[in-house]
Amino acid sequence: MVLTKESLFSMFRFAALLWQENTARLSEIDSRFGDGDHGVTIGKMAALILSRLSERRDESAKSFIESLGSGCLEIAGGSAGPLYGVLLEGFAGPLSDDDAEIGAATLKAMFSSARSALFEITKARVGDKTLMDVLIPATEAAESAPDDVSSILRAAAAAASRGLRETEKQVSKFGRARNYGEKTLGTPDVGAVSTALLFKGFQRGIEERARDR
Ligand SMILES: [Mg+2]
Repeated sequence: MVLTKESLFSMFRFAALLWQENTARLSEIDSRFGDGDHGVTIGKMAALILSRLSERRDESAKSFIESLGSGCLEIAGGSAGPLYGVLLEGFAGPLSDDDAEIGAATLKAMFSSARSALFEITKARVGDKTLMDVLIPATEAAESAPDDVSSILRAAAAAASRGLRETEKQVSKFGRARNYGEKTLGTPDVGAVSTALLFKGFQRGIEERARDR
């Protein structure tokens, strides 16, 4: 199975809807050790995705994802906009403008490229209680999944949720939350929560698309 452009749009639609459903929860988690605005920023990114989806004409998958990335980079207030902007631009990296369909190898390369892009802007790694605790294992799971796009997205979403649960056992080492040290034990990292939702939305989007046919 390969990813058609319509399946890719469905992935982003479901990710945006999941983000929208969870904005209050994200802000509540962020308010414990941060400034409580993560849900607001994620809500803006979800709105951006949904409006780009409704405006889209026959642009390529690459330019669609890149436009989401540059849109997120422009979202002010905290680090979430820029982080997701870089993640999405990285995700689009391996695509060519004439790709009508995305095969398994390309999808795996998209995950790897997103991780590389984040590696360039953060020193956070697994165990530091950031979104990298979700992105890194999700990427590794995608890379070692069978060569089938739905298997890749399923593996990434499952590893993302395992990585997210691990952050509850960790002490924050980055961002404002690091000032709270051991008090952060028991609370997941809010960026890890939103990244896990993104990958869960991707998986849900492709499953719904398969069911429609
Ligand atoms: Mg915040």
